[in-house]
Formats: sequence, structure tokens, C-alpha cells
Amino acid sequence: MFKGILIEKDEAGYRASVQDIDDSQLPEGDVTVRVSHSSLNYKDGLAITGKGPVVRKFPMVPGIDIAGVVEASDNPDYQAGDRVLLNGWGVGETHWGGLAQKARLKGDWLVPLPAAFTPQQAVAIGTAGYTAMLCVLALEKHGVKPADGEIVVTGAAGGVGSVAIAVLAKLGYTVVAVSGRPAEADYLKQLGAAEIIDRSQFAAPGKPLARERWAGAVDVVGSHTLANVCASMKYRGVVTACGLAGGMDLPATVAPFILRGVTLVGIDSVMCPRPERLVAWQRLAADLDVAKLGLISHEVSLAEAVPTAAQLMDGQVRGRVVVDVNR
Ligand code: NDP
Repeated sequence: MFKGILIEKDEAGYRASVQDIDDSQLPEGDVTVRVSHSSLNYKDGLAITGKGPVVRKFPMVPGIDIAGVVEASDNPDYQAGDRVLLNGWGVGETHWGGLAQKARLKGDWLVPLPAAFTPQQAVAIGTAGYTAMLCVLALEKHGVKPADGEIVVTGAAGGVGSVAIAVLAKLGYTVVAVSGRPAEADYLKQLGAAEIIDRSQFAAPGKPLARERWAGAVDVVGSHTLANVCASMKYRGVVTACGLAGGMDLPATVAPFILRGVTLVGIDSVMCPRPERLVAWQRLAADLDVAKLGLISHEVSLAEAVPTAAQLMDGQVRGRVVVDVNR
């Protein structure tokens, strides 16, 4: 038996609770992992609260991030005792995830836990941080350099936003944070933001084109915020879009793309090919100041993860939440 959060949906409704689970209930897979830590991402918040249709099979163990040690393996690439990490691949959505003391997984989904990080640090970064790095890599790939001008990061006090600011600032970019939480201004400055703008300035419908300001953007909000970001990009600016915290719609015009040569880059972490994941984690090891992870993240127990998921959905959680599944 092991402890885990189980999401159930039946006549009694949609609910998530910590339960004792029998090993025989574990799904198919060639690697069994003793989980040490998982985390709470926006998607885990949607899954645990039922606020979004993330979970595709019931019962489901949520948790899209897993750090732990291999207990048993039929996969030639992994042996008992190996430290491993998993982000995405539908885990916590269609396949049981990391918010439990044990997980059975496909070895192809795993990467070795980067030597630079402890399991806690790896999930403090988690999918949110690895996605932030995918955004930074996309900005670089499209030629955005620190000298080109300011980078705007929306949803700044959340998980993706916090890591994006810390990495971009360390790389020498001037970062402007867009946040709805004025109380987090000091936090955002400590991460490296040069300026903080209230998110209300981006939330309302805007003009097709606005004053050119940003050389690059990391957007986690979508909807009018993403449309307004696109409208205020500099000539040939690059926008990375990874989130929908403000809405799934994109009420924009083509004006920024056809008149200013703006590039809109979509970022997906879930099915991102393994070689790119490995590069992203290598770059996180090189370009994220691990000392900042103490500021960005806090830890909760497995039982605390359920109410904390509701707080995350209410926009009350700063940065990242690490879940110690063994306490
Ligand atoms: P968090 O909840 O940690 O952060 C989201 C932040 O967005 C909040 O902290 C808040 O920032 C801002 N926000 C929330 N609601 C609104 C709103 N209605 N309008 C404007 N801003 C809002 O989530 P994550 O950082 O984990 O994820 C952010 C987004 O990125 C999510 O939509 C998530 O699904 C997506 N994502 C996508 C991935 C991919 O592969 N494409 C991978 C990981 C995440 P503040 O308080 O500073 O205003």
C-alpha cells in the first residue's frame, strides 16, 4: 500500500482526497518509481479542483511532475536506485501521476534527475520552470538578444512567470513583470524584474497596434493580455505564448504580424521531444540561480496539496509549490 491523492468522479460528484492505494492498482509501465516530491502546477490545480477538464480517466492520481528513485525497472535505460525526473507526457491527466508515494511509468518519459539539482529543487522548477526555459530558448532561437530591448513577462508572480524572470534577468535581459499583485512587487524585483506593471493595463480590449515597446515576451495569460502584448511588440519582436490563465481566446488582429513582422511562438511542454527537454534542463542548471528557488518555492505535504490547489486557482499562491509526498 502507498498514499496518494486520488481524484474520483461518479454519482457522488468530483472529489480529490488522500487515500491508501494498493500497489495492484498501479497502471501499466516498465519503470516503478518511489516518488519523493511532486509539485502543483496550474494544470494540477485544474485537475484537483475540477475547474478544468484536465483529467481524462477516473480514478486518477494527479501530479504532472515527478522526482524520485527507480524501485524496479524492465527498461534497459533505468536500474533500481537511479534518480529520475518526469514532466508532462499526459501524466496526471491520462496516466497516474506524481502526487503519490509510488508511480508506474514508461521509461521513455523519464529523464535522469539533473545532477545540479536535488529532487526538491527539480520539482520547485517543475513543469512551470521547464516551460519558462522553453520560452527563453525560443526567444534565443528567434534571435532576441538583451541589447534588443525589454522583455515583458505576464502572470509574473506565478510559477512560469517567476522562473522566466529569474532566468531572463540572469541572462542579462531587462525584464518587465506584469502582475495583478502589487504586494509581490518586492518579490518580483528580487527575482530580477526592472519594473512592474499592473495587469489591468493589459486586461481590456486594446487597439490592433499600440506603442512599440517589447523586444520579446513570455505570456502565460492569453486572451486580451496576449493580444495587447502582440500589439505592443517592437518591429520583429518575438512573443512566446504558453498559457491561458486569463482565457483560452485570442481576440487579436493580424496587424502586428503583417505590419511589424512580429513572431508568435507556441510553447508546449507536455509532448516536447526528449532532446529539447534535456537541453532545457541543462540550461536551467546553467542559467537559473538555485538560491532563488528558496524565494520562488515553498513546500507542502500531500494532504495540504488539496487545499493549496484551490488557493492556486484563486491566484493566491506565489511562485511554485513543492509537494513532499512522504509527509
Ligand atoms: P500559476 O497559477 O502559478 O500562475 C499563473 C499566474 O497568472 C498567476 O499567478 C497570475 O499572476 C496570473 N493570472 C491568473 N489569473 C489571471 C487572470 N484572470 N488574468 C490575468 N492574469 C492572471 O500558473 P503556472 O505559472 O503554473 O501556469 C501559468 C499558465 O501557463 C497556465 O495557463 C498553465 O496552464 C500554462 N502552462 C502551460 C504549459 C505549456 O506546456 N504550454 C506548461 C506550464 C504551464 P499575477 O498574480 O502575477 O498577476
